[in-house]
Amino acid sequence: MAKTKQKKGSTDRQVAMVFDLNKCIGCQTCSVACKTLWTNEDSTDYQWWCTVNTQPGQGHPRDYETMGGGYRDGVPQPGRLAKRSEWGGGWDFNYDEVFYGGKGRSTFLQHVGEEPEWGPNWDEDQGAGEYPNAYYFYLPRLCNHCTKPACVDACPRDAMYKRSEDGIVLRDETRCRGYQFCAEACPYEKIYFNFMRNVSQQCIMCFPRVEQNVAPACARQCPGRAVWFGMLDDHEGPVAQLVNKWKVALPLHPEYGTEANIFYIPPVGPARLSEDLSFDEETPRIPREYLEGLFGPKVNAALDTLTTEMAKTKNGRKSKLMDTLVAYWWKDMFKPYDRDPAEIKWK
Ligand code: SF4
Repeated sequence: MAKTKQKKGSTDRQVAMVFDLNKCIGCQTCSVACKTLWTNEDSTDYQWWCTVNTQPGQGHPRDYETMGGGYRDGVPQPGRLAKRSEWGGGWDFNYDEVFYGGKGRSTFLQHVGEEPEWGPNWDEDQGAGEYPNAYYFYLPRLCNHCTKPACVDACPRDAMYKRSEDGIVLRDETRCRGYQFCAEACPYEKIYFNFMRNVSQQCIMCFPRVEQNVAPACARQCPGRAVWFGMLDDHEGPVAQLVNKWKVALPLHPEYGTEANIFYIPPVGPARLSEDLSFDEETPRIPREYLEGLFGPKVNAALDTLTTEMAKTKNGRKSKLMDTLVAYWWKDMFKPYDRDPAEIKWK
């Protein structure tokens, strides 16, 4: 189980994930795989450690990008906690009436209590732009297991730490007192509160699986083969190749200063349609400025590399990058974390 505790500084190794936003179909299989594995107990109903947001959109919690936290020029920035209404979800339904009140055949499940105003995926598939050039894409989000985790720095109880053997950010729940300074400090708003147990909680990168060489559930369950998992120092592995060699996988909001370890292949998107409905190949439908706002200026070089390599394959030439992104054999996406979880005797 969780082995070496190391509060700050460098780790021996660092796990990372790459999501290809050109392949993500927004099916939420990753979200549900995580939900059923880790957040199915009381008081975790509103917690979605992994969610797939539609971009452009307000995200989850609503407008999380305006809530502060993280670092600017190495200086911690004030952040605020998301309100319960900004998270949304975890609503009450008339279960008693439907299941136990003898009205099962005459009524149906309905929300009870305050009218919900937001929830995960509230703005799903809305996107932006005008017909015929409307656009959207999906962005799976989870804790980034940052190299400089603002949450760890903010914890006055040393309850949060970054493991030296793989850089996974964890919490010692016996030390957590529920102050939520970690949640205020996380600029990605990826820390939730368990109101029943009075502790904060977040993605644990499926560390019990990782210790058994099984990839995290969100990655393993992705039906689109859109997620790679591995160590950044495995230089021949696809994660390191996509991040460090090809430089086509980028962290979300690098300006937050936490050095996130969840990386994204930005969406190339189709060309714009001109008024005469011909394709304007020079103008991308997803505005570059918008993508720069999400992934920083390096997104331009990443998109140029992707389009160059795509053109190669269109012209019948080989592209090692495209072969990696196509992912012909799923095990290649996770090696050596490709064990079958069904073979393992879990304690
Ligand atoms: Fe901490 Fe947030 Fe970074 Fe996760 S994403 S390590 S919770 S700062």
